[in-house]
Amino acid sequence: MMRTAGKFLLLATALTTSIAMTLIPGHDAAARARPVLLEHACVIDGSGAAARPDTSILIEDGRIISVGPQINAPRHARRIDMTGRTVLPALISDHSHVGQVSGTTNGTQNYTRANILTALRQYARYGVLTVTALGLNRSPLFDELRREQHAGRNPGADLFGVDQGIGAPDGVPPQKRFNLAADEVFRPTTPDEARAAVNKMADEGTDLIKLWVDDFRNGVPGAKPLPKMSPDIYRAAIAQAHLRNRRVAAHIHDLSDARALVDAGVDILAHGVRDQPVDTGLIESMEQRGTWYIATLDLDEANYVFAEHREWLDDPFLAAGLDPALRAQFADPRWRAQVLAAPLTAASHTALAMNMRNLLTLYRAGIHVGFGTDSGAMPTRIPGFAEHRELYLSVAAGLTPLQAISLATGNAAALLHLSDRGLIAPGLRADLLVVDGRPDHDIGDINKIAQVWQRGVRTDGPLVHGE
Ligand SMILES: [Zn+2]
Repeated sequence: MMRTAGKFLLLATALTTSIAMTLIPGHDAAARARPVLLEHACVIDGSGAAARPDTSILIEDGRIISVGPQINAPRHARRIDMTGRTVLPALISDHSHVGQVSGTTNGTQNYTRANILTALRQYARYGVLTVTALGLNRSPLFDELRREQHAGRNPGADLFGVDQGIGAPDGVPPQKRFNLAADEVFRPTTPDEARAAVNKMADEGTDLIKLWVDDFRNGVPGAKPLPKMSPDIYRAAIAQAHLRNRRVAAHIHDLSDARALVDAGVDILAHGVRDQPVDTGLIESMEQRGTWYIATLDLDEANYVFAEHREWLDDPFLAAGLDPALRAQFADPRWRAQVLAAPLTAASHTALAMNMRNLLTLYRAGIHVGFGTDSGAMPTRIPGFAEHRELYLSVAAGLTPLQAISLATGNAAALLHLSDRGLIAPGLRADLLVVDGRPDHDIGDINKIAQVWQRGVRTDGPLVHGE
């Protein structure tokens, strides 16, 4: 499933050499230049391999130089004792959004440079250092920010993604409910228009193409279906994307749409199947085509969990990422009662249970599974907090903590074809999450964030003080 470390090393060395030559910002050049030796750490390398106790990591110029029980570090290296701590690769989200939400609001008015950079800072504080914004982005701001984050020009997570994406006319993503501007998503009505939309995004350097194929009933009994994208449109978009060397990620909810899209050549299912158990037909088709799967378990849970858990407002780990307006909403008894009574809440519970079951089935079948939450698309999908919740839910679904961590690190990077991160191995970026305890024994320890290192420089931590 994972590529070999050797291949990683060659690619990573080539990549990071060119980055180091041109893009390292001046303010931390000095911090990067002095080697750092992290000593006596428990290391989880992100490949799925067992944790290695009492291991050292040597970092220089933003990169991991070596990893092992005994390292000959240069004499001038700064030594940092990591006894009692676990070092793992920083987390990577394969499915998030930026610039959609602020406080309790959704909408195009939130698509600003300042709001997006604030969210990317928050991801970083929670140890998520690579974020994929899977559509609903505006040109040219998104393209500028992607370039700046790649170059490390602003604090916060690195940014990849889909420019606008392709939805259905009068359908998903719903323009009114999400308060979207017309230029945030293409809604082609003919195969020609679908190809033109793909070309426009590819010309602007989009990393992937996104499709929304769903009637948005979300499992709510009696809900009115929205018009769904027709197969001739998505087939044209997929073919054109592949011609332009772009892979295609699809929003889905139901098994029938997942199957039709995989058979049509879609590369990534960007949500879990939530209406019924996955079947052998889907599994065999995904296996044969090497299709990736992102469950986004947090998505449905976030629809109700804050209404159910008033006491979470006292949790400093949530408080660290909770906007004051959102906090006031979660504390409002009327809001909580309304959410608990909503038909969507019952449907979301059912959808989450099915999503968890299907994740375990597909994982055990050896399907490529990445990592994402759809954080940032709605106010309750809180950047950073959502990713930690996803890890917890992945373990609740039946994965071991080590397997869940490898989804969010090595696998998440492999989904993005990023060979310079996601693992702790020589040549890779020193993007690291340092936590107290042993998250391979208890996934709850992944919330005990002590330090975050981005490209070899300590940027954050601890997330919660005085623990
Ligand atoms: Zn999404």
